[in-house]
Amino acid sequence: MTEKKRFSFEFFPPKTDVGREKLKNVRAELNKLGPDFFSVTYGAGGSTRDNTKDIVLAMTAEGISTAPHLSFGSDEEDSILALIKEYKNAGINRIVALRGDMPSGMGAQRLVFANELVEFIRRETGDHFHLEVAAYPEIHPDADNYSQDIEFLKRKFEAGADSAITQYFYNADAYLYFVDQCQKAGIDKPIYPGIMPITNFQNLARFSKNCGADIPRWICKKLESFNEDKESIHNFGIEVVTKLCENLLAAGAPGFHFYTMNQIEPNKTIWENLSLSDR
Ligand code: FAD
Repeated sequence: MTEKKRFSFEFFPPKTDVGREKLKNVRAELNKLGPDFFSVTYGAGGSTRDNTKDIVLAMTAEGISTAPHLSFGSDEEDSILALIKEYKNAGINRIVALRGDMPSGMGAQRLVFANELVEFIRRETGDHFHLEVAAYPEIHPDADNYSQDIEFLKRKFEAGADSAITQYFYNADAYLYFVDQCQKAGIDKPIYPGIMPITNFQNLARFSKNCGADIPRWICKKLESFNEDKESIHNFGIEVVTKLCENLLAAGAPGFHFYTMNQIEPNKTIWENLSLSDR
């Protein structure tokens, strides 16, 4: 019997009232598509702690299955434990557990690796949470080498993670090779591709440089050629990302996690192109 595929959407917590109002409509629209869950990111160093929590709790109260992202940042165990317990008591049963990055200006404190956070959550709350961790098919920018990064991913699973979501990528082979290498290293849990729709070339290029995601040259060249023509960028982005997802599904990917950037489009169109509501 084939495993049921899993599809999810990610939001970041808006900083303004206008952004929060807009997100209510976005989540209502995307929820109509029937995703398995939503997730809400957590600001580096705990900077969005309350914002993330408020949105996660509001969505949970609306009956929308929602997972908070979480990292230690500069927090003590007590405050992280209090937050985890609050999530548990609110009926939340999934957490995306991360090391995160320190925002500039917050000093050179040691970041708590994600495997240590996974271990902590398991120790304190047993099997209550389904724990997601991050994976990097094109390798995390801080990693010394390819196989070491896979070994660190393996440690997250050994600490109790249930599945991983990847950094976004536009080269299906990078993901497929990575999954193959993970399996050879003894990882047998699902690794869900993170999918980043294309809407703004400058932002995407800047973000990709920071997080170590590669935008293939042909995609850069094509996007550059559109200049400020938003409609052409939008249409090309939908075409490229739909094709990427089709290739990944055909090659056996277990589902997707969409980095929505808090937008309905182009996520909805890509979802509909792939008929994901009929799965
Ligand atoms: P880790 O898995 O701890 O790894 C970090 C680095 O350290 C890697 O280079 C790894 O090879 C190395 N490493 C791991 N374990 C060890 C160890 N025990 N000893 C030595 N080295 C080790 N960022 C946010 O700020 N907020 C978010 O909400 C957020 N959500 C994300 C969701 C997903 C699905 C992904 C893919 C990324 C997300 N990020 C988020 C970005 C993430 O926080 C950064 O990529 C961060 O630099 C690494 O976090 P991690 O959990 O992957 O770290």
